[in-house]
Amino acid sequence: MSLLSLRNVTAFYGPAQALFDVSLDVAQGEVVALMGRNGMGKTTTVKAICRMLPARGALTFDGQDLTRLPSHRAARLGIGLVPEGRRCFANLTVTENLIAAARPGPWDMDTVTALFPRLAERRTQTAGTLSGGEQQMVAIGRALMTNPRLLILDEATEGLAPLIRDEIWQAIARIKTETGTAILVIDKSPAELARVADRAVILARGETVWTGAMDALTPEVSARFIGL
Ligand code: ATP
Repeated sequence: MSLLSLRNVTAFYGPAQALFDVSLDVAQGEVVALMGRNGMGKTTTVKAICRMLPARGALTFDGQDLTRLPSHRAARLGIGLVPEGRRCFANLTVTENLIAAARPGPWDMDTVTALFPRLAERRTQTAGTLSGGEQQMVAIGRALMTNPRLLILDEATEGLAPLIRDEIWQAIARIKTETGTAILVIDKSPAELARVADRAVILARGETVWTGAMDALTPEVSARFIGL
């Protein structure tokens, strides 16, 4: 059974329809890449899942109807979001940022700082003084501290230097292999997504246009829906 399931989901920004027909599934322990060109509805789909935007259609998480829940309840169900633009509390220290998100489970200060050793070194520094990559590590660490059953990463490596990007991809791979957390991941690099994702879902103009195994995503499909 799917942990997360969307069937024929539609969503609007005021009068403007942004999602027309989105269907996707994420199973327990699975990593799914949500792909598509800019403006095709990836972030809007994430907002619909996290109840930050009203949506219609069938949206379920662990069999529960998400459309009936306000966003704080959706988070409590076990969806951990790393939103676009690496948000953390700039005036709080790294430790305070992480502790503020904590819920019981295998992810705690020790396991998060083992995943990102830099955060241990920066423990007492305020998040606002960290590099962009370190702030992204804090944002991922915060989501992990909630001990989610589904982790959603929206452009977690955007605008970061290649070395830091690589560290973050390695961490995502470790989250997958070591904890079996289900992950829905959005990124601009198909090559990096191919390293961790089991399946891909491609959106175009607010619709799911392709779903399949990551290794079935041919250059033709990629050229048609994603671009090079
Ligand atoms: P990107 O990679 O550029 O973030 P995306 O696939 O995540 O792209 P969305 O941000 O989901 O795309 O945008 C989908 C559509 O919804 C676009 O046409 C966009 O212009 C529109 N849209 C996004 N945010 C808003 C908003 N706050 N108000 C109105 N329209 C919006």
